[in-house]
Amino acid sequence: MTRVIIVGCGIIGATIAYELSQIPSLTITVLDQQPPAQGSTGAALGVLMGAISHKVRGRAWQLREFSLRRYETLIPELETATGTHIPYNRQGIVLLRLDEDNEAGWRSLAETRQQQGWSLELWDAAQMQTHCPQVAPIVPAVYSPQDRQLHPAYLTEALVTAARGRGVTFLLNTPVEALALDMNISECRGVHTRQGLQEADWIILASGLGTTSLTQDLETPLAVGPVLGQAARLKLSQPMGHPDFQPVITGYDIHIVPLGQGEYWVGATVEFPPDGGELAVNPENLTPVLEGATALCPTLAQAEIVQTWSGLRPRPSQQPAPVIEVIPGATNVILATGHYRNGVLLAPATAERVKVLMGLATDSPLL
Ligand SMILES: Cc1cc2nc3c(=O)[nH]c(=O)nc-3n(C[C@H](O)[C@H](O)[C@H](O)COP(=O)(O)OP(=O)(O)OC[C@H]3O[C@@H](n4cnc5c(N)ncnc54)[C@H](O)[C@@H]3O)c2cc1C
Repeated sequence: MTRVIIVGCGIIGATIAYELSQIPSLTITVLDQQPPAQGSTGAALGVLMGAISHKVRGRAWQLREFSLRRYETLIPELETATGTHIPYNRQGIVLLRLDEDNEAGWRSLAETRQQQGWSLELWDAAQMQTHCPQVAPIVPAVYSPQDRQLHPAYLTEALVTAARGRGVTFLLNTPVEALALDMNISECRGVHTRQGLQEADWIILASGLGTTSLTQDLETPLAVGPVLGQAARLKLSQPMGHPDFQPVITGYDIHIVPLGQGEYWVGATVEFPPDGGELAVNPENLTPVLEGATALCPTLAQAEIVQTWSGLRPRPSQQPAPVIEVIPGATNVILATGHYRNGVLLAPATAERVKVLMGLATDSPLL
């Protein structure tokens, strides 16, 4: 049996654990210093901007496309395995074209997507009003019917339950203190915890912001820094717009995410640490996001703010997000981290890339 340790039980670690649990020759243990989905994942809005993103080729598009396709099978698979419901909005994303008039650019993207087997609809302002009467600005929009939104914490819980059912061990509330590196053989023997050394043949770091300290002794450490996001849950007495058409609405980089029963998530801020300083949560920074959302959908002015929260997105410094690679100098350690603003979107593709790096997916489209 090949022993695999996964450090981190956010959406990335949980998805890797579940996907690897289908391979009978692996013995898998997931370690996290907290319960599942308490890091960035617990704060995420779960918007999957795939077809509507401007990524059209190379790794960035391949990862998005793989994830979108896998989610269509993964969600029903997990619901059956766990007997739970995972909120999964299949009504797409409407992106308002508020400030720019890049008609030619959007038309070209729609054509590319069509060639790639995906659909994007360009709506003029009148079509937009017909489809989404809750939106005030009279502007054109791009509608992406195959993009999705899901509940990141519920999904993570379902992945954990299903993986556990297939024999994965979860050691929660167990901080990993360091990698047990053996420089002589350029390998890692396992990880050190308070309980001692946990040995493994493969170590996968899905540790988000914790990756910086875990890789600090390596030849090439990976710095993953925080980018703060604040968001809110709003409640109206009834849904806005057509009750049977409730897509995610996006404008000014603000998402209005329908949850059903007149509830919406609204977010999120994108706040970088001040030069040389620490990030602190200032609730006032959420105000422009709420005002922006109300400018998009004025009915939200009547909503009650039921909850506000914040989370820290893990962003790799000096390289593009995400980082999915074998660590130079430790041939059995894989980084699966630094997903910044798209970790929920990219989780299935990340798990697939990890399988490829382990030599377990020789026919993968992500080779
Ligand atoms: C407000 C907000 C909105 C967002 N919206 C979206 C969205 O709409 N769509 C999207 O795709 N993404 C979104 N994101 C980004 C997304 O949340 C992240 O990219 C994703 O959650 C990263 O997942 P992760 O598993 O790598 O990290 P995390 O969820 O942070 O998990 C890492 C885990 O590792 C554990 N860990 C770290 N170090 C150690 C250690 N030494 N020992 C043991 N355990 C350790 C932590 O406890 C944690 O549980 C959003 C983020 C925020 C903050």
